[in-house]
Amino acid sequence: MIPLSGASLQPTQQAAAFVSLSNLGDASVMKILLASPRGFCAGVNMAIESLDLALQMFGTPVYVYHEIVHNKYVVETFRDRGAVFVDHLTEVPEGALLLYSAHGVSPQIRELAASRKLKTVDATCPLVTKVHLEAIRYAKLGYTILLIGHEGHDEVIGTMGEAPESMLLVETPEAVDALQVPDERKVAYLTQTTLSVDDANRIISRLRVRFPHIDNPPKDDICYATQNRQEAVRTLSSEAEIVLVLGSQNSSNSQRLAELARESGKKAHLIDGASDINAAWFRGDETVLVTAGASAPELVVEECIELLKRLFGATVEARMVRREEVFFPLPRELRSAGDKHSSTNAHFAGSGASRTSDGS
Ligand code: SF4
Repeated sequence: MIPLSGASLQPTQQAAAFVSLSNLGDASVMKILLASPRGFCAGVNMAIESLDLALQMFGTPVYVYHEIVHNKYVVETFRDRGAVFVDHLTEVPEGALLLYSAHGVSPQIRELAASRKLKTVDATCPLVTKVHLEAIRYAKLGYTILLIGHEGHDEVIGTMGEAPESMLLVETPEAVDALQVPDERKVAYLTQTTLSVDDANRIISRLRVRFPHIDNPPKDDICYATQNRQEAVRTLSSEAEIVLVLGSQNSSNSQRLAELARESGKKAHLIDGASDINAAWFRGDETVLVTAGASAPELVVEECIELLKRLFGATVEARMVRREEVFFPLPRELRSAGDKHSSTNAHFAGSGASRTSDGS
C-alpha cells in the first residue's frame, strides 16, 4: 500500500511543510482544480475487472502477460492477491491460466500460448484491437504501414507483430525524411492509442508532405480517453501554477499529460501517490491542477487531495471539461461470471469523500 498520511513524509518534506504553513496568511490557501475526465478509462476498467474475476473464479495463481495496466499501485495490489506478472511465456507452467493485458499482444504470443496449452483470457482494450485490425487490413492490401508510436511500448510491440514485414515505426517528425518504402502511393499510417495529440499531428503533417497519397483509418487511433484527458489539461492548466499528474512513470498517457502541462509553461510532477509529494514544491497559496492518467486509480487521487488539505488547507473545485460514458464488455470467457461475482474496482475507486459536483 502507498503511505497516505502527512506523517509518512520524509523529515525534509515535513520541515518544508512546516515552513510553508507558517508562511500562510489567513487569506491565502491553496486551491485545487480537480480535472475531469481523469483516471480510469473504459479499457482499464475492463482489464482490471477481468483480472479480479479470473482470481475469484479460478483461484491463484493467475498469470498476466506484462503489467495488467501500467500503474504501480494496481499491479502491487493484484500481486498481493496472487496475480503473477510475466514478461516471457516460458515463466508460465503448461496448462496454466494466462490473461492478456489491456495493451494487447502479437499473434506470435497467441501461438506460443496455444503451443503451451495455456488457458487464456483476452483483456485487450477494444480500441487497441481496432488498431490491430487496421494493420491487418492494410497489410493484406499491400500497403506499407507507418506506425506512429514509442519503441518498446507493449502496445507497439503487439501491433507491429500483426504485420512485421509491412510495418515501420515512426517516433519523430525528423524520422519521416529517412523513410524508405517500396511504393509511395501505397502507404498508410496508424498511431499508438496513447500518444500526445499534438506530437502525433506534427508527425502526420510531415508524412502528408512526404507521401501526398498516404491513407489513414476514418476514425482516430488515439483513443477517446487519451484525447479527453489531454483536453482537460490543455484547457485548465492556464489557471494553475503547478500540475500534479497521478500515474506511473511507465504509463505513456500519464507521461503525455505531464509533458503537455510543461509545454504550457507549468511545473508538472508525475507521481504514483501521496508519498511522492514533496511539500517544498508548494508555497501554499497557489492553484494546483490535479489530474490522473487512464491507469491511475481514483483512490490515489483522493489521498493526494487529503494530504494537500492537511498540509495547506487546500480547497477543491471540480472542473469537468467533457463527460465520458464509455463502457466495454468483459472478455467472452468471463461474461457469465461477471453476473455472479463482484468487481474489485471498488478497491481502487476511493471513498468518494472528496468527490465533488462533477460526479466523476
Ligand atoms: S487508454 Fe484508451 S486504448 Fe488504452 S486502455 Fe484506455 S481506452 Fe483503451
